Amino acid sequence: MGKIILISILFGFLISLTGCEGEPPAIPPQPARAAVTTPTTAPSLPLPTSPPTTASAAYISESNSNSNNYMTFEYEENREPRKLIALTFDDGPAIYTPYLLDALKERGARATFFLIGRYAHSRPQTVLRILREGHEIGNHTYNHRNLVMIDYEYARWQMAYTNAILRGITGEYPAIMRPPFGIHNEQTADIARDLGMSLILWSIDPQDWYHRDTDITREHVLARARHGSVILLHDIHKPSVIAAIQIVDELMSLGYEFVTVSELFEYMGHEMVAGAVYREPPRPSEDSAPVCTDDYNEDTAGECYVRQYYEY
Ligand SMILES: [Zn+2]
Repeated sequence: MGKIILISILFGFLISLTGCEGEPPAIPPQPARAAVTTPTTAPSLPLPTSPPTTASAAYISESNSNSNNYMTFEYEENREPRKLIALTFDDGPAIYTPYLLDALKERGARATFFLIGRYAHSRPQTVLRILREGHEIGNHTYNHRNLVMIDYEYARWQMAYTNAILRGITGEYPAIMRPPFGIHNEQTADIARDLGMSLILWSIDPQDWYHRDTDITREHVLARARHGSVILLHDIHKPSVIAAIQIVDELMSLGYEFVTVSELFEYMGHEMVAGAVYREPPRPSEDSAPVCTDDYNEDTAGECYVRQYYEY
């Protein structure tokens, strides 16, 4: 019998900077369009879902943390017989991606890949393989610009052109995106909403891009992984790919299943809303009540499910 728990979610603005590779050159070259079939205009998609009724559409500032920013909903903690985890890989496709895909296929594990547009353009076969083998593809901008440091038109181009490239290869527009470094603002959300994408952050970040150490990455993740975790890794680094495979093996032996972000959210009951930001609300300790605070602490990160969404 499931226990009903009332959860208050704080719509505080917290960003844990993710590690990503250093930024590519500032001015992206226009890829030759002959190589992929891309639309000639930026794609504009209808909202895939109805807008939320409980969240305010008004911008919620970083300092504004009064009760109006809380959203309350119920969930049944023990209803799930399954234990699901979403592995996510940013910044590819890269030279290690096919090796990772081989390993995931062999294990029956699926993952989500937030792809860089210019790399997707240069490795279309890997992009196709990702999709055909049951994984999910998300947008990670054209060349990894910090979206809050550029103007609306350029930010929109970063996201829309990447979508055009991905659609040219796969025939589908992505429904999710991850802003580089996890950094987003109202402009980012507006564009994502217009392009029909939810912004997906994570609940576990082992900083694999920084130390590039297989053991540290694996142990960080294994110490925090639980049903509902969204794990951030980078398949552009060999130690991260090796760690990912070890993580899959270990957690599968404990009964976990690896699914895509969309599958995880559907199972967890999180409606995917275009323009909304999904991130981890940290909690103080393993034994504490799952009431999320704005007290971000790296040591406790990853202790909550990604069950918050935040609307600009
Ligand atoms: Zn990145």
